[in-house]
Amino acid sequence: MQVVAGVDLGGTAVKYTLVDAGERFLIEGLCEHPARSTEGPDICLQQIVDGLHIAMQKNGVSLGDLVAIGLDTPGPASATGVLSAEGSTNFLHPKWAGFDVREGLATRLGKPVTYLNDGNAAALWGHFSIFGGGAAATSVSAIVGTGLGGGVIADGNVVKGRRGFGGELGHVLVPYQSIRGVDGLTPRCNCGRTGDLESLCSLTAIEQSLLPFFLPKFPGHELGTSETRPRAAKLVRGLAEQGDPMCRAIFRVQAHALGLFFDEMVNTFDPDALIVGGGALETGAAFQQWFLHEIRAGMPEQRQEQADIPIHVMPNGDTAGARGAAVDALKSARANGLIAERQKA
Ligand SMILES: [Zn+2]
Repeated sequence: MQVVAGVDLGGTAVKYTLVDAGERFLIEGLCEHPARSTEGPDICLQQIVDGLHIAMQKNGVSLGDLVAIGLDTPGPASATGVLSAEGSTNFLHPKWAGFDVREGLATRLGKPVTYLNDGNAAALWGHFSIFGGGAAATSVSAIVGTGLGGGVIADGNVVKGRRGFGGELGHVLVPYQSIRGVDGLTPRCNCGRTGDLESLCSLTAIEQSLLPFFLPKFPGHELGTSETRPRAAKLVRGLAEQGDPMCRAIFRVQAHALGLFFDEMVNTFDPDALIVGGGALETGAAFQQWFLHEIRAGMPEQRQEQADIPIHVMPNGDTAGARGAAVDALKSARANGLIAERQKA
């Protein structure tokens, strides 16, 4: 058996997946191990290796079966997996600055390792879930979580960019002033921009901009009195799903911002698919459909040939990064002749 592993290193947990040469995922649910990234590279890399052995053992995969590993982490990092020398929120330990995390894992495992940032990995998974591994299709994925991540897959390839910043979709400006009902809103992003996608469409946007903007318009709302703002922000999705008018209004602004952004992507790439994922859409199917409908409602009119570009919800949200990393490693292993060409069942 030839198997490729996907490893998603997050802030607190490492998530694993395994995929065989026929593109079958061997792990359906969540398989994770504590990350310990705050303790620096030595301990964290050992954690990754230990957890990988456990995941393989559980699924009857031996080290000899393992052909390659795909790794993804939060950025900023270079396209090849050298973490920013400036440090970052997820890698505060001083030894992480400028650390080549891909190389570090490859050395420990003695196997080839590929690298993607977490947004691009999830985007590759979203793309693969629709088109499989071989198609030369183009898609744009937006992942609405604490921030807004995502990525662009052009003709089947991840657009990593010159310095690894390709697909930083959250900081693309959108003409938000055209969204109905936001007069007086000044959505500031932590990156310093006003009115980029993350400043309107993320959990952080709800907490910093949308709740403070909408609460005074809904006097006596339950989220205005009893809760701290970060806690209230987390309750907005559930209330929106239940039909609460203010929370629906907040999610409508997020959807319309996505609609404006997707319109920019439609005119830039003429993609085969647009994909939305992340915590905002970890809801029932009815709410997901309402949200997709609102995204469309927020898009300016498309020319006839582009009006039917589909918008999908990304499946397997909490394992998207690991799955995308595995798909990346599988593609690379095929290209390098380490694994048999597409042996689809
Ligand atoms: Zn920004």
